[in-house]
Amino acid sequence: MEDSNEKLTPLSELGEFGLIDKLTSDIKIKNSTTLVGIGDDAAVIKPKNDMLTLVSKDLLLEGVHFDIMYAPLKHLGYKAAVVNFSDIAAMNGKPKQLLVGIGVGAKFSVEAIEEIYIGIKKACEVYGVDFIGGDTTSSASGLVISATIIGEVEKDRIVYRKGASPNDLICVSGDLGGAYLGLLILEREKKAFQANSDIQPELSAHDYLLQRQLKPEARVDVVDLLAKNNISPTSMIDISDGLASDVMHLCKASNTGCVISEDKIPIDQSTFDMAKEFNIVPTVAALNGGEDYELLFTVKQSDYEKIKTTEGISVIGYMTDVSEGERLVTNDNESVELKAQGWDALKNKRTKN
Ligand code: ADP
Ligand code: MG
Repeated sequence: MEDSNEKLTPLSELGEFGLIDKLTSDIKIKNSTTLVGIGDDAAVIKPKNDMLTLVSKDLLLEGVHFDIMYAPLKHLGYKAAVVNFSDIAAMNGKPKQLLVGIGVGAKFSVEAIEEIYIGIKKACEVYGVDFIGGDTTSSASGLVISATIIGEVEKDRIVYRKGASPNDLICVSGDLGGAYLGLLILEREKKAFQANSDIQPELSAHDYLLQRQLKPEARVDVVDLLAKNNISPTSMIDISDGLASDVMHLCKASNTGCVISEDKIPIDQSTFDMAKEFNIVPTVAALNGGEDYELLFTVKQSDYEKIKTTEGISVIGYMTDVSEGERLVTNDNESVELKAQGWDALKNKRTKN
């Protein structure tokens, strides 16, 4: 986990208050809405007039959401923060204040917890978020990281999942499927390592895919870009479960159907190549992989010209009447139902070629 030359400090040496102090003493407040951060019984926030406050939480459990054998602790801290920022971006807002609760098992050293905090603080620095508090406790069942994010959005710019109408264009930022392929690479290397610990993991060749899995980014930049280009999404969600599941969330909340074009789904070349290596249809990784943390949103048809010229955004389909269901038009120009069964059929058919 850490450099074996260093002497590690057991948690018991510092105690709870010593640890909190060590982790948080260098934290500075940046946002004018944060009146008081760490140190009192509660942080104090003064929202600006005409701003709505957004709040969201994510819970990460060792063995369920991450594996400390292959997730570097720094990246784990970064990811724990960023997945929360992504939820705020999905409301068309900006993350502003973060709280983090950690439960740590006895096997962890002070240095290990500091690594996690380096990642959390880095994410806060990159995204201009104030780290304003948390809680620290021991855990009998592995590492627990629970992060709560507070964000803000102008009243008239908030975007819900429920705002889409039939004919709205379905758009997605960036590219999809990479995080899932990154996970498959890590699992493969972990197995190889367990079988023979002399074999060093072959990871450097897959920087992009590993970064997508281990150190994702929240697309707060897309929120800015849309505002700059005068585009107001009608509905929005961040892609945490996979395109298929998340577009269905938009449809369900908006009471619409949808049509997604397989050939429009943005997939990076490295995702494509690695999917082939794992004998997976790249589209299936994009549809069902998850953890890409891109923004999936809808816009009015009248915004087509604007969205077409917005860099890094792909139009992948459109909303339909709810009676038409959720459909995928495949590369062979067949219309299949957008659900788990659909992919299996698609997968079997495509891998035969
Ligand atoms: P309490 O006993 O009231 O929960 P604590 O001693 O746990 O207070 O916390 C003292 C201060 O340190 C609070 O401002 C709290 O938000 C902050 N804090 C505690 N644990 C963490 C942590 N893991 N990360 C960041 N801040 C923390
Ligand atoms: Mg406490």
